[in-house]
Amino acid sequence: MKTNKQIAEILDEPACEHNKKSKSGCAKPAPGASAGGCAFDGAQIALLPIVDVAHIVHGPIACAGSSWDNRGTRSSGPTLYRMGMTTDLTEQDIVMGRSEKRLFHSIKQAVETYAPPAVFIYNTCVPALVGDDIESVCKAATERFGVPVVPIDSAGFYGTKNMGNRIAGDAMVKYVVGTRDPDPLPESVHRPGITVHDVNLIGEYNIAGEFWHVLPLLDELGLRVLCTLSGDARFREVQTMHKAEVNMMVCSKAMLNVARKLESKFGTPWFEGSFYGISDTSQALRDFARLIGDADLTARTEAVIAREEARVLADLEPWKERLNGKRVLLNTGGVKSWSVVSALQDLGMVVVATGTKKSTEEDKARIRELMGEEALMLDDVSPKKLLQVVKDYRCDILIAGGRNLYTALKARLAFLDINQEREFGYAGYGGMLELVRQLALTIESPVWDAVRTPAPWRSAGTA
Ligand code: SF4
Repeated sequence: MKTNKQIAEILDEPACEHNKKSKSGCAKPAPGASAGGCAFDGAQIALLPIVDVAHIVHGPIACAGSSWDNRGTRSSGPTLYRMGMTTDLTEQDIVMGRSEKRLFHSIKQAVETYAPPAVFIYNTCVPALVGDDIESVCKAATERFGVPVVPIDSAGFYGTKNMGNRIAGDAMVKYVVGTRDPDPLPESVHRPGITVHDVNLIGEYNIAGEFWHVLPLLDELGLRVLCTLSGDARFREVQTMHKAEVNMMVCSKAMLNVARKLESKFGTPWFEGSFYGISDTSQALRDFARLIGDADLTARTEAVIAREEARVLADLEPWKERLNGKRVLLNTGGVKSWSVVSALQDLGMVVVATGTKKSTEEDKARIRELMGEEALMLDDVSPKKLLQVVKDYRCDILIAGGRNLYTALKARLAFLDINQEREFGYAGYGGMLELVRQLALTIESPVWDAVRTPAPWRSAGTA
């Protein structure tokens, strides 16, 4: 179990601007404040997309049951990550003091049944309170079974989901990164005259397979992705992250500590970027070239950007007409707010308001720049408030996370899911086209007219 000092160290993240604020998003939560997901949930959500690892939740069945697989991340190969594994602790195990033994046997079962390259153990509240020493159990299991068993000490009561993300990142840097060097480049990858550079992406989860919109461009530029932490990643890729020339923090600040620690431990520079929207995707490609400092790469990057932008703008043209002037209420978190605002404005849509509950001061400044000083920014994003804004500002669509789905449907309002549970990938230039397609199909769906029209028996006066 972590000590107060260790928890305080995780909460203190110098690379995060929230650190300076007294009302820090990462401060120790008040009772009930972790209702949006506990530290264990955050740790598991951050690492579950490592697809070939056996992920075992050490705790009562409910911890695994209510959090498993809630991020729509995709794999290009192994599917072991989707197998829910838990030690399923009961009162009997606690009273008889056999929870550590149960953990050891669970690891044995996972290794013998699935032969994974590694096993991750997530600690939860009950074994942490009982005082299980998961680090020692993992060490003993590693020696006994000859497979790395990584402890992720993420008891829910340590803090919020965001803190759990950091704990997960910390565990990777402490136990996994640097334990293997990357494979030599296969002959087939060599292209005459092109130097291949190794890079990592941190905080990219390949939701709905969206990273596959971007990967071909990186391949074309000669950027070999050693690892995406953690979308569609393999354990052996995470081991090699220390050898990258540049790290990109994708969109979210959840694993900022990984980028910072890799910089201090291995000297790898990093930048923050996003693959949502045309201009942000181009900027991310430029930032790779800038930090690597290869003039040839810079020139080729500009050529690829020019080609891709021209292509996507031409493809967007017919959709623009259909979406022009449509009014949007946007409620999404952090960096995504401004990325998406600029993408929607490019399409001629009117963003009437945006939720900024999770946005930083920098995000808000960027939104003001895009939407003007009068921009309506909502810190209160309760269903009641959202519906009031929809009514007052005559919105055509609500773009938000899955938890707002029923708010929109009950109000007979078109809705597009933009968060982690979504079915479609919106990253990269190709993702922009998908976003536009989904927006048009949603807004133009005939179902809205049908549900907004009074039922026939009502208009006939029989109700
Ligand atoms: S780790 Fe703790 S807070 Fe999180 S789901 Fe399990 S019991 Fe609940």
